[in-house]
Amino acid sequence: MDISLLVDQLNDGQRNAVAASSPHQLVLAGAGSGKTRVLVHRIAWLLEVEGVSPFAVMAVTFTNKAAKEMKGRLEELLNVPANGMWVGTFHGLAHRFLKLHWREAGLPQHFQILDSDDQLRLVKRVMRENNVDDSRYPPKQIQWFINEQKDEGRRAAHVMPSSDPFAKTLREVYYLYEQICQQNGLVDFGEILLRAHELWLENPDLLAHYQQRFRNILVDEFQDTNNIQYAWIRLLAGNKVSVMAVGDDDQSIYGWRGANIGNIRDFQQDFPGAELIKLEQNYRSTKTILAAANAVISNNSGRLGKNLFTDGAEGEPIRLYSAFNEQDEARYIADQVDNWAKEGNARADMAILYRSNAQSRTLEEALLRAGIPYRIYGGQRFYERLEIKNALAYLRLLLNRDDDGSVERVINVPARAIGEKTVDILRSFARDQGCSLWKSCELAIANNALPKRATSSVQSFLDLVDEMSAGIEELELQEIVSHVIENSGLIEHHKKEKGEKGQARVDNLEELVNAARQFDADEEPDLAEEDGDQPLSELAQFLDRAALDAGDGQADEYEDAVQLMTLHSAKGLEFPQVVLAGLEEGLFPHKMSMDEAEGLEEERRLAYVGITRAMDQLIITHAESRRLYGQENFSTPSRFIREIPSEYISEVRLKNTVSRPLSARPKLGGAITTGRKLLDDSLPYGLGQRVLHAMFGEGTVVQFEGQGNGLRVQVNFDDAGSKWLVVSFAKLEAL
Ligand code: ATP
Ligand code: MG
Repeated sequence: MDISLLVDQLNDGQRNAVAASSPHQLVLAGAGSGKTRVLVHRIAWLLEVEGVSPFAVMAVTFTNKAAKEMKGRLEELLNVPANGMWVGTFHGLAHRFLKLHWREAGLPQHFQILDSDDQLRLVKRVMRENNVDDSRYPPKQIQWFINEQKDEGRRAAHVMPSSDPFAKTLREVYYLYEQICQQNGLVDFGEILLRAHELWLENPDLLAHYQQRFRNILVDEFQDTNNIQYAWIRLLAGNKVSVMAVGDDDQSIYGWRGANIGNIRDFQQDFPGAELIKLEQNYRSTKTILAAANAVISNNSGRLGKNLFTDGAEGEPIRLYSAFNEQDEARYIADQVDNWAKEGNARADMAILYRSNAQSRTLEEALLRAGIPYRIYGGQRFYERLEIKNALAYLRLLLNRDDDGSVERVINVPARAIGEKTVDILRSFARDQGCSLWKSCELAIANNALPKRATSSVQSFLDLVDEMSAGIEELELQEIVSHVIENSGLIEHHKKEKGEKGQARVDNLEELVNAARQFDADEEPDLAEEDGDQPLSELAQFLDRAALDAGDGQADEYEDAVQLMTLHSAKGLEFPQVVLAGLEEGLFPHKMSMDEAEGLEEERRLAYVGITRAMDQLIITHAESRRLYGQENFSTPSRFIREIPSEYISEVRLKNTVSRPLSARPKLGGAITTGRKLLDDSLPYGLGQRVLHAMFGEGTVVQFEGQGNGLRVQVNFDDAGSKWLVVSFAKLEAL
């Protein structure tokens, strides 16, 4: 390749980094300053100019997608296949070493990887077999504990013995779990890193071999490495290999998962002669977007401190849309995608980012209805998530006990000691008798075909479903759903999981109640006339809709689709147009992180990551009222909005004509398809209208209910909170 090309596309700072001759480099720079670009060009430089073999370079990226992109860029730059190169995530690379050196690592050749669900199942098994009470020791908590230890490089034997019975049990289960894994050649995610670390520690010759072999190691997103990852790199580097780490302390967003920002501070000590290189020019975003990002992050303390500027255009102001509820927000966003595409842009150049996975449901529905292809990156679609599928399985059983798939799915979820063996017996029973699994449960019990313990467990499952279905005819659809997620034990089950994941699953389940509340059977095409509005037929339609939503809509690989993802998975990426949805206090910053300064600062870094994903246009939305996690919340706009100087923001005005049709029972889902209907003459104001009340002061209209003299409105008053008022009495003055 033409080497001048390689450096021509770089500024001075970047060129210094790419062509550095110092022993090690720490590139510390803000978002969009070309860190990843430097890393890629550095590799090209090493290969082309310094004549380093492609197999002597290792590059660590944060996601597999980033690794793939990096290989792609290298192939483009160098015109050589990059397949055999050591480019990957920490897990991916560590796994590769374990595969190569399974013997030295003390593993069977075909060791098996446990994902997080497998791991949990195994923890439970260990607990069961050793009579550890899972009501006192939630398996999720033990799983979390084990992973935490592994991330810190500690085996059970290294955990400090304690006289505290709780700590003692955690340690014991960890120990037993380790044994089972070892006996069966099972390797969980944390183990991959820990093992790879031990591989170096216990095999000095092997380590020496690799230290000889690798000349350069490069690490992207260095601010998010945890202790074991950093220790692993340090060992591998020894005192021969040159390391380049690139990162941004302002983008450290995985503290909650053990990432240690202190690694940045330690780097210069741990790697003698490390040169600190700062990049200050941002090439990604407009002046406006960058200024907003800088303003927000300046509210954090203890930053390493960087300046970022751009020569780019001023750009358009950031659009701020204050929706009256989450449906309105989703509809607005879908409109924006539509406009964007109509202007001739690729949908894939637009991303919708949100704090919490549960937010995606409303967005997905709005996009589905508008017929806009979308893709969820780094996550699953709402109706495909494990906890949602489990809840739907229980709901299906209420309608049809003979739904074998559903029985299989939840017969032992939450765990009720029905093992695979029992299920096998039931399956063969069903086969022999030519009946459903449910029937075979009944038959097996009646014929004493199961061991005693299994009999009572299976019986309790049958009873549970029967009990849950009693009286549901009297309930509204959302009440049925709420009833089932509670009484099936699913909520409880996920509440026991520690950390964000468990909480996210609980959130998603509660979001399902929301979906049911907003579900409008009248909008479903194949409404069976004679069933009318019966809750049960409504349930059947709801389940059909869920199955359909799970099955299609997600754009196939080559279709041009708008990208949906959480803020966490957007790290390192960039898009011409970005929407940040749901910027409300309690949602973002998230309520779980708002109370401590540290948590709040991590949320703010996440906001910084979000804003800096945008190249040309940024849209920020928040909703006055939001049904999320099954609850209606009224929230104030996120402090992160307030931290953006108002000169960079242009507020999108609400259209007064936007309303939703009146109906006896409010179903907000209607807002999506009929949102643009003109206001009913009998209605004095539209949703989102600011009003004044003699006693409660100013507020915003967020909902309607009833008709004529019975017409009531829900107003979110600035000071007095939310109130339902009868319009004919309330004497509201439109502002
Ligand atoms: P993040 O912190 O978000 O990971 P980053 O620092 O890794 O960002 P890059 O993704 O490498 O930044 O670069 C941001 C954008 O700026 C990319 O589109 C990149 O191609 C472009 N860019 C970087 N440096 C230059 C340059 N010298 N000239 C032109 N474009 C550049
Ligand atoms: Mg980057």
